[in-house]
Amino acid sequence: MPDRSFLAWPFFTPAHRELADALETWCADNCADRYAEELDTECRALVRELGAAGFLKLCVADGDSRPDVRSLALARETLAYNSALADFAFAMQGLGSGAISLFGTVEQKREWLPRVASGQAIAAFAMTEPECGSDAANIQTSAMRDGNEWVIVGEKTYISNGGIADFYLTFARTGEGEGSRGLSAFIVPAELVTVEERIDVIAPHPLARLKYDNVRIPADAIVGEAGEGFRIGMETLNLFRVTVGAAALGFARRALDEALSYAKNRRLGSGTLADNAVTQEKLADMALAVDASALLIYRAAWQQDEGGVDNRRAAAMAKLHATESAQAVIDSAVQMHGGAGVTRGVKVESLYRDIRALRIYEGASEVQRQIIARDLLKGAST
Ligand SMILES: Cc1cc2nc3c(=O)[nH]c(=O)nc-3n(C[C@H](O)[C@H](O)[C@H](O)COP(=O)(O)OP(=O)(O)OC[C@H]3O[C@@H](n4cnc5c(N)ncnc54)[C@H](O)[C@@H]3O)c2cc1C
Repeated sequence: MPDRSFLAWPFFTPAHRELADALETWCADNCADRYAEELDTECRALVRELGAAGFLKLCVADGDSRPDVRSLALARETLAYNSALADFAFAMQGLGSGAISLFGTVEQKREWLPRVASGQAIAAFAMTEPECGSDAANIQTSAMRDGNEWVIVGEKTYISNGGIADFYLTFARTGEGEGSRGLSAFIVPAELVTVEERIDVIAPHPLARLKYDNVRIPADAIVGEAGEGFRIGMETLNLFRVTVGAAALGFARRALDEALSYAKNRRLGSGTLADNAVTQEKLADMALAVDASALLIYRAAWQQDEGGVDNRRAAAMAKLHATESAQAVIDSAVQMHGGAGVTRGVKVESLYRDIRALRIYEGASEVQRQIIARDLLKGAST
């Protein structure tokens, strides 16, 4: 049972605490002993089950109100603690439909959000390209207007849910201005897009390279105004940035619990590993890292929900600290497990792989540092 004392912090309302309980119960009933034998089938099933349980409603706008970031973060922390794949299935429904929630028309929201929330439609966010990742302003995929249609040509890569999605929220160049000023966002039904290659990564989930070969979509498939795509992409990423940290926190908390349990049970000399001072020092550092991440995450999430402050620096700090420190916490847990720590089937081994990509996607750690530093410098006196 994870430490849940943080739920008493003032960032939360009673509704958040009830949600945390419901998530915990759902995970206990649905995540234990779940193996991803067939990844696509498993992910589709998880999306449907999370939808049926009502949790995917958290991922989408409710009328004009934006998703509640504290609820998203609680969900991701709890799901990640129990199952990386369940967290992935949940998170992508939010990221993939986020632009529609934040900037979609009433019709777009009506068409897509209920299906995303029920798990009937699987969402994907298609920004990265073979020649452009961190530097999203350089997107080369183009969308040209042809009468009542847009024609999209280009390639996207490392697209999560690639191959199983029902639509790809796609960013393409429409040319209203240079660089970031000439991008737009579109809802592209998956059947129009070619999956060129499935990509196998260290912690597998559906991931693909996609080709847009003169894909024709109606004029009203654009989200927001032409030329607003970069802002739409960045605001969507900013909404979910804290929640990447929350997933990392779930992994780290699980690693700490695995380490505690292992240290208490593993014989070492006349006692156990837990009796050893070096082990205790490690455990203390792990607990400190976990608590610091939780404070940063729930502070940033609370700021985002309450509004009135620009929380970009806080969100970047939360993502940066939680993902980087989770890697260190998990590494300590692996080390403490000795040979068992690198053995397939042992939880800390999969956590070691699960955490890695979070330091790269949705803004690599270096990019988060840049966001923080620029914000600091903006406010600094000369
Ligand atoms: C598992 C996984 C899932 C993904 N899912 C999606 C998805 O669903 N949709 C999507 O659009 N993309 C997705 N991506 C792509 C991801 O967002 C990119 O990998 C990420 O933006 C980095 O881009 P890149 O790989 O091209 O690396 P590059 O941009 O080439 O950067 C390489 C490295 O350079 C460093 N770097 C980059 N910028 C700076 C800087 N400004 N200052 C200093 N150093 C810097 C960082 O260490 C970075 O890791 C996913 C990636 C992975 C691994």
